[in-house]
Amino acid sequence: MALLEILKFPDPRLRRKCQPVDAVTDEMRQFAQDMLETMYSFRGIGLAAAQVNRLIRLLVVDTRSKDPETDRYRLDEMTELERQIQQPLILFNPVIVGKQGKTTYDEGCLSVPSYYETVDRFEEIEVEALGPDGQKLHFKTDGLLAICIQHEIDHLDGKLFIDRLSPIKSARIKSKIRKHGYPEPLKEKEEVPL
Ligand code: ZN
Repeated sequence: MALLEILKFPDPRLRRKCQPVDAVTDEMRQFAQDMLETMYSFRGIGLAAAQVNRLIRLLVVDTRSKDPETDRYRLDEMTELERQIQQPLILFNPVIVGKQGKTTYDEGCLSVPSYYETVDRFEEIEVEALGPDGQKLHFKTDGLLAICIQHEIDHLDGKLFIDRLSPIKSARIKSKIRKHGYPEPLKEKEEVPL
């Protein structure tokens, strides 16, 4: 296992489009595990290969949250559809083949640390992908899991959540980061970056 370096906006490498994989190899499976380890170490709930400087269509997600008292997963915070999906989720070549409804969420991102803004997303999505063993996956989900998958697929297309804000807000945040960089991370983070 290895911790990977996460690229941060305005690094131009985050803007490149990732390519589908022909087959899932042992090396890619291992890489996905390294991505999970990296994501957990920064308390993120999703990470796309583009963020760790690899141009393949691969993302990892784990939106479950643990109750700090009991150390058990809070299943009551998940929707019925979310609970049916086994996490962590490793998806190669993910494609959204169906979408329905609208929702919003205060998104953050490991590549844009300390910024949280409300983004519009589809409420329910239907996804096709390859799993870590190269098996075909096809599932429907909603809730935070659906939001997170949409956010990570954007990364594979070189897109960031701060591109999805109003033009004024988007420009303001980008110029602030370009000028001043990022603030020191807070010790007690209440929100989770996607
Ligand atoms: Zn992100």
